[in-house]
Amino acid sequence: MKLSFHGADRTVTGSCHLLECRDRRVLIDCGLFQGSREIGEENAEPLGFDPATVDFVLLTHAHLDHCGRLPLLAKAGFRGEVIATAATFELARLVILDAARLQEEDTRHRHHGTWRQGEQVSAQALYSARDAEDVVARFGRAAAYDTALDVVPGIRATFLDAGHIVGSASILLAIEENGRRRTVLFSGDIGNSGRPLLRSPQVPDAAEIVIMETTYGDRRHRRFDASVEELIRAVAATLERGGNVLIPTFALERAQEVLYFLREGVEKNRLPRTLPVFLDSPMAISATEIFRRHPECFAPKPGGIFGGRTDPFVLPELRMTRETPDSAEIDHIHGGAVILAGSGMCTGGRIRHHLQANLGREASSVIFVGFAAKGTLARQIIDGARQVQVLGTEVPVRARIHTINGFSAHADQRELLDWHNRIGGGRRATFLVHGEAAVMKSFAQRLTVPRIEMPALHQVFEL
Ligand SMILES: [Zn+2]
Repeated sequence: MKLSFHGADRTVTGSCHLLECRDRRVLIDCGLFQGSREIGEENAEPLGFDPATVDFVLLTHAHLDHCGRLPLLAKAGFRGEVIATAATFELARLVILDAARLQEEDTRHRHHGTWRQGEQVSAQALYSARDAEDVVARFGRAAAYDTALDVVPGIRATFLDAGHIVGSASILLAIEENGRRRTVLFSGDIGNSGRPLLRSPQVPDAAEIVIMETTYGDRRHRRFDASVEELIRAVAATLERGGNVLIPTFALERAQEVLYFLREGVEKNRLPRTLPVFLDSPMAISATEIFRRHPECFAPKPGGIFGGRTDPFVLPELRMTRETPDSAEIDHIHGGAVILAGSGMCTGGRIRHHLQANLGREASSVIFVGFAAKGTLARQIIDGARQVQVLGTEVPVRARIHTINGFSAHADQRELLDWHNRIGGGRRATFLVHGEAAVMKSFAQRLTVPRIEMPALHQVFEL
């Protein structure tokens, strides 16, 4: 059995691991690198294996850094089957088609005037919408949680709920080879325990070899309920001042989570029943619809989360604005509204129009609930810039700025250690991935396992 690593190695993006056994090649995830370098550069480098020889891709979840290079596989000759949970299939389709569209647009922008629309442009993009469609056509069997699935005879996969986003899974492989049975566990991204929407991460009874993420392997998160309280207070205070609340959000999970807590705020009479809330992101709207179709992915609630009396994402005055003119209308609202729009880091999307309309107003507020990378507009505002460039104009920052850090979808150090310790017996080796090198090292010191590895890009291990 051979295990090799082709992304998320001593870094947090580009997850892609290849397992070779029983003359089959099984890829676990094929994510996009999302660093500061040009998106085309790092992702256009050789994958480190021949995609045409890959038989199966097992997908842990639909985040771009886990599924965003799938179209590249199709482009390079992959003709195998993709296996994932049903919810992951729907979300991944949304995510990669959107990524392909953005790349085509981006390339068109850069070559404006020198390129005609069409083939030449797609040749310049990392991949085209057609490549994305090609790989979506290879989405095959849907895996149910906790139910063993024979990838091929002798290679059995069990998807366990990872509690990270809707449909997310850790994948346990049981492999019969040369009369021996071996177990390999890929963590995927590990979520938090005790959250209201998703289940806590599940672990198997035993796994000999563990490949685990370490994003927050060196730190503890703030208490979650304190973050929810901070959100409700910031919204209430803004409404009192007569301003609008802008919440830049990622389309998957965070937007829905914020809706959930706003709804709770209304139900507990902490926020007015008439509060207009806009979900102003076509992608977040589509994602919310997918969430509704997959009640099996949510933590069971008394009365059922969807079958019961309330839909967790519906507020009395929620408006979903898919069309551009409806989005533009929102900026005529002077105060009293909550606006959720992408992108989370304000690098693109409709949030920029709302920032243009509201950043200069003392009564309004911007609440950041997600990670903001260096160099992004979100980061400039968070770091206290007095004036920023938005859509080509200088806008003074007078609105209240709130940064709420407790909404992470990733387990913190304590939860990661707990996850690792809960795996039953048999652990022989743990491979750390999906984390910065320094973070991994600090995490590794806390693990008790005979062998710990921190693979380098394209490193191969014979097991
Ligand atoms: Zn993720």
